[in-house]
Amino acid sequence: MASDADELQGPDFGEGLPSEEIAEGVPLLGHAGGEAIILVRSGADFFAVGATCTHYSTSLAGGIVSDAMLRCPLHHACFDLSTGEARRAPAFAPIASYLVEVRDGRVRVGARKPEPAVRARTAEGPASVVIVGAGAAAYAAADTLRREGFSGIVTLLGAEETGPVDRPNLSKEYLTGEAPEEWMPLAIPAGVEVRTGARVAEIDVAGRRAVLADGSAVSWDALLLATGVEVVKLDVPGSDLPHVHTLRTLADGKAIVANARNAKRAVVVGAGFIGLEAAASLRKLGVSVDVVAPAPPLEKVLGPEVGAFLKRVHEDHGVVFHLGESVASISPTAVRLKGGAELPADLVVVGIGVRPATGLAEAAGLRTDRGILVDERLETSTKGIFAAGDVARWRDPIFGGTLRVEHWVVAERMGAAAARAILGRPGAFRDVPFFWSAHYDVFLAYVGHAERWDRIDVHGSLAAKDATLAYREGDRTLAVVTIGRDRIGLLAELAFERGDRSALDSFGRSS
Ligand SMILES: Cc1cc2nc3c(=O)[nH]c(=O)nc-3n(C[C@H](O)[C@H](O)[C@H](O)COP(=O)(O)OP(=O)(O)OC[C@H]3O[C@@H](n4cnc5c(N)ncnc54)[C@H](O)[C@@H]3O)c2cc1C
Repeated sequence: MASDADELQGPDFGEGLPSEEIAEGVPLLGHAGGEAIILVRSGADFFAVGATCTHYSTSLAGGIVSDAMLRCPLHHACFDLSTGEARRAPAFAPIASYLVEVRDGRVRVGARKPEPAVRARTAEGPASVVIVGAGAAAYAAADTLRREGFSGIVTLLGAEETGPVDRPNLSKEYLTGEAPEEWMPLAIPAGVEVRTGARVAEIDVAGRRAVLADGSAVSWDALLLATGVEVVKLDVPGSDLPHVHTLRTLADGKAIVANARNAKRAVVVGAGFIGLEAAASLRKLGVSVDVVAPAPPLEKVLGPEVGAFLKRVHEDHGVVFHLGESVASISPTAVRLKGGAELPADLVVVGIGVRPATGLAEAAGLRTDRGILVDERLETSTKGIFAAGDVARWRDPIFGGTLRVEHWVVAERMGAAAARAILGRPGAFRDVPFFWSAHYDVFLAYVGHAERWDRIDVHGSLAAKDATLAYREGDRTLAVVTIGRDRIGLLAELAFERGDRSALDSFGRSS
């Protein structure tokens, strides 16, 4: 992916600069030896790391520094300042790290340090870990097990025909053709077995075996359920026609891309994130788009201000909404609405929701409640069986009560936390929910969790695509949404992590 950190900017750190020109804790972009570098001062110490995030190759210059980490402003990956190691998803590969010399009041960046070593192999933990699912949480768990030095057997059993892929991209650059297919797979760590097309039919708790649909079985010492969600299908006449698609897997994405090549008119059913992102991508491809939905887009999740704003953005790009409507039937050439209208369509994308894939867990007698219930270490009601990602409902120490979300970064961080728990490492899962969504040139970041609120404070201007919104209930800030203000989103995440109520109070007011 092209980097926006490709062009060298700022001071030449190889030449050095006076230490007083480097502000405390503020990433300073410069370069040395032809490479873009971020220099950070922390008290008397200086750190120099690569300026490009290994997740999406974006510049880390707009990020923030906290807890000895540099945080990426786009998707909130975190890197260790002293080693460059990726400490938090969605990045897994390290950034470069450089030697820094301070002499006579000048700070100079020197040679690149060796990459952080994988921890020594350890016999600690169970002999084998089986992960059901091969998505975000499963991938992150496998990566973490290996990075933590786990030497036992790691097996991913995934129902899809591919291993883990960059699922969020399916509705974005992959659909528009800007991301070629070779960008989609996530790199599987050495020594991890991924079985594709391997649907698990039963969890045999007593026998500690995952029984596959073909009757074979895989034994485990620890089991992680990372089965994600099931897509809700549209149940109307014609919904099984070949030009009617849902969008969850790479196979779904491929089918839509192939269909879009010859399509002129698409109907998107549902105005949630996936439906609207698909609408934006189809518009970029020059396909005309009608969106059919029962209620105004995203109002329930983001409130009327952002919902109306996103609707307007889509309308400005030529999308036509049919709200208060639903689909009665689909023919090879049109979608008929219950209100009687007929919308010509040679491509239909259905995005009407998902439900957590709890079937295996329920049949195995694990406790479920709108998700698989897990404790703070992500262990289910059955010892030795863990759950992570979209399927898991955890007790959240920050927001209170239990939470289940459908966010990429959360799924990966849960997968990593479950892996550490499997290895017996201490620590509760307490990451702050974060997701992003992209529509044309609008990038929205959401931090926190608000299922309801009594007011929304807005700072800046949605019309100018430059705004912060704070969702509040009484005197509590539950969530912060930023548009065009990625750094504020990072600061909000940090404020939630620290329980810093006065900082949280300021979002939507002064920033
Ligand atoms: C098109 C699209 C765009 C998205 N965009 C964003 C975004 O912009 N930002 C964001 O934060 N999130 C986004 N998401 C959501 C994000 O992808 C999910 O939150 C994340 O993938 C959840 O990870 P997971 O591991 O829990 O589940 P998944 O990634 O869904 O993986 C679950 C896996 O388990 C497999 N499985 C299920 N049952 C079985 C079984 N019985 N046997 C074997 N395998 C099984 C499934 O086939 C699947 O491969 C998007 C999702 C989609 C579909």
